[in-house]
Amino acid sequence: MSASQKQLFGLFAHPVGHSLSPVMHNRAFQALGLPFYYHPFDIPPERLPEAVAGLKALGIRGINVTIPHKENIVPLLDELDPEAEAIGAVNTVVLSETGRLVGYNTDGAGYVQSLLSETGINLKETNVLLLGAGGAAKAIAVYLIKHGCASLTIANRTEHKAETLAHHVQRYAAQSHDGKGSSSPVRINVHSWSQLDRDGVKAYQLIINTTPVGMWPNVGHVPLELKELSPGTIVSDIVYNPLQTAFLKAAEQRGAQVHQGLGMFIFQGALAFKLFTGYEAPLEVMRKVVEDQLNLSSSQGK
Ligand code: NAP
Repeated sequence: MSASQKQLFGLFAHPVGHSLSPVMHNRAFQALGLPFYYHPFDIPPERLPEAVAGLKALGIRGINVTIPHKENIVPLLDELDPEAEAIGAVNTVVLSETGRLVGYNTDGAGYVQSLLSETGINLKETNVLLLGAGGAAKAIAVYLIKHGCASLTIANRTEHKAETLAHHVQRYAAQSHDGKGSSSPVRINVHSWSQLDRDGVKAYQLIINTTPVGMWPNVGHVPLELKELSPGTIVSDIVYNPLQTAFLKAAEQRGAQVHQGLGMFIFQGALAFKLFTGYEAPLEVMRKVVEDQLNLSSSQGK
């Protein structure tokens, strides 16, 4: 693909209205002087197969995929990157030079890149508590295992889903450990959600909220009451509207280092941008435009 050729990219979602991906990618194209355009497409679930077939017909070079299509799009693609296969969900699709639709998942990698660059954490010595067992939790769990945390404990409101996710990532952990040989395998556990309050969270050095609890407009809600934390604990929330959730505020009051969800959004977008264009993404430009949009919507009470 030549950078001087006009190219169309986009987002498949339903509904698509509030996504910040179009403004983020269009500003990034502009910053690099690329004559590309990123369009939000509202695709109802029953029209997803037609929309995916249309990508080839129209020569659309790449799309992001979000709720509710991340899993349903998998069988409609020609190839999957190994991590997207392990996660079982795709958030980025690229039309290759040979005309094949290849699916990737940049959510987990984006999360870990943001975590490492913003907190300086040493994952190998970290016992992680993952709150939630949905799509984002699955992507994050696979990448935490890929990077080798000490242990991963999953707690979810619907407990059997925590068990299912634990089994799923156990297989990935066993395969990736076999591939690496010497490093110790990641220990994977499930903790009962209803007993978290009683048992406390002192055993963990990283606590990640992957549930939507605390997201606008329910900004006062927290997924878990944080009582005692170990010194040096990092509390992370993937909700980014508001930027500083009630959960992160409570963690900061208890002396924890906090990690906001905006970084994951920017890094997953930056990784998709690289897959789309072959260029390194202008991270600061992307962060600034998204922060401006979020500040604008909070000043309008959204
Ligand atoms: P999902 O697949 O629907 O999973 C939602 C998870 O949250 C489930 O485990 C669900 O538990 C749990 N949950 C929902 N409401 C809850 C409540 N009131 N109390 C306790 N647990 C609750 O959603 P997802 O795609 O993983 O997204 C989750 C959140 O992450 C959303 O807020 C999304 O905006 C955010 N996100 C952020 C980024 C980023 O770039 N920062 C990327 C992706 C997602 P049950 O199984 O019991 O229903």
